[in-house]
Amino acid sequence: MSRPQWQRLARSRWAVPSLRASPGVSSRLPTARAAFSTSSRRELMEMTGFTEEQLTVREAISHICSKFPNTYWQERDQQEKDPKEFHAALAKDGWLGIALPEYLGGAGLGISEATMMMQTITQSGAGMAGAQAIHANVYATQPLAKFGTKEQLETTIPNIINGTWRTCFGVTEPNTGLETLKLKTLATKTEDGYSVSGQKIWITCAQVASKMILLARTTPLEEVQKSSEGLSLFCIDLDRDQPGLDMRKIKKMGGRAVDANEVFFDNYKIPANTLIGQESQGFKIILHGMNAERCLLAGEALGLGYAALEKAAQYAKERVVFGRPIGQNQGVSHPLADAYMKLEAAKHATYHATRLYDANDGSVPFHAIGVACNSAKYLAAEAAFTACERAVLAHGGMGYAMEYDVERYLRECLVPRIAPVSREMILNYVSEKVLDLPRSY
Ligand SMILES: Cc1cc2nc3c(=O)[nH]c(=O)nc-3n(C[C@H](O)[C@H](O)[C@H](O)COP(=O)(O)OP(=O)(O)OC[C@H]3O[C@@H](n4cnc5c(N)ncnc54)[C@H](O)[C@@H]3O)c2cc1C
Repeated sequence: MSRPQWQRLARSRWAVPSLRASPGVSSRLPTARAAFSTSSRRELMEMTGFTEEQLTVREAISHICSKFPNTYWQERDQQEKDPKEFHAALAKDGWLGIALPEYLGGAGLGISEATMMMQTITQSGAGMAGAQAIHANVYATQPLAKFGTKEQLETTIPNIINGTWRTCFGVTEPNTGLETLKLKTLATKTEDGYSVSGQKIWITCAQVASKMILLARTTPLEEVQKSSEGLSLFCIDLDRDQPGLDMRKIKKMGGRAVDANEVFFDNYKIPANTLIGQESQGFKIILHGMNAERCLLAGEALGLGYAALEKAAQYAKERVVFGRPIGQNQGVSHPLADAYMKLEAAKHATYHATRLYDANDGSVPFHAIGVACNSAKYLAAEAAFTACERAVLAHGGMGYAMEYDVERYLRECLVPRIAPVSREMILNYVSEKVLDLPRSY
């Protein structure tokens, strides 16, 4: 998509805010629907009910992804090689700024469109590797855009959107895990900034990133009244030439094209102007983006599930054993039909959650948004896992072969079940916040 087209799309979003909120809007927008259908093969996913903006995003992203065939992702996965061409292709057309404000060079679209973008990427065959290559640039920049100073915004955001800099997101720590509020990495005040010491783990793309959105303590845990206090958010340079920074790649199960890392800080110096918002407000600032991230992950999971199911249905039609296509056996077709319905249900939950998130006018209680976004992430991750596992089984032995892709999808679909919050923690959340049961931990 050329820049002028892109800008028209951005403007159209603001021109039709009431349409965005109304279900079934796409029936009033036949042009976009037709344009989408003519340029793509028949979708296994039911395409009704999406907005004009979502369909336009899907078409443009599909076009870019079509230049990166499955063999590209197979090789990148095997060679553990960063898909930098893919990141550059999306940056070239401004897609990394999809949900960033227009005055910063973004498209000013919402999480409904960003989720569609991430779904389209995984569904194209790029899988979680493709999504993770850009995920933090789309999502972790949100708190920066909202709470950053003018100087931070003007120097950082345009360079992330145009692909000059890549960013990663540094929250998880080895000794505290999902108990984020207990994290220990400490940023101690110095004369002209802070000195950071501590360790992060599972930091995606740290090897290729020049920036990190870092959550660290500015007041030690022992000195705060509530563990949500004393945390601060920073946008720091990852300067490998400076003392005090080290990182080590983690060998992992899937998504091997993108690196995941342990990152070590040992009195690593960062300037004062890297602080995002106010000191000690880091947790509140980061909360702002957590529901959005759940939606993006839900979309990524959905895409992977549909991609796997498409492959399985195709294979089940073509593979003949005992004189008939294997898909003629209900033992093969029923698990796939069931997986399809699970994906469709999760799709509705996902785009319902994004709609609530984007309403952003105070009409939807924060609680309802939280429940919807967490539920969407849970349901989409589970549906994707079901689809990917059944796709491998439907392929028989070939499900285990790299060239059929479904083994890669199965390896990758575990990620949305674990991160950014595990399925168990979402079940805990719903037990407590919806069912009003006593907290279990
Ligand atoms: C591929 C990948 C990429 C990632 N990328 C990033 C990144 O870029 N940046 C970043 O900051 N982090 C990243 N993460 C980290 C991810 O967010 C964490 O792995 C996730 O939050 C889980 O934390 P943990 O691994 O420490 O699990 P733990 O907290 O050790 O939990 C282990 C298990 O115990 C369960 N459990 C724990 N407590 C309870 C309880 N009270 N009730 C029920 N069950 C419980 C959990 O559900 C989980 O199944 C990534 C992880 C992966 C795998």
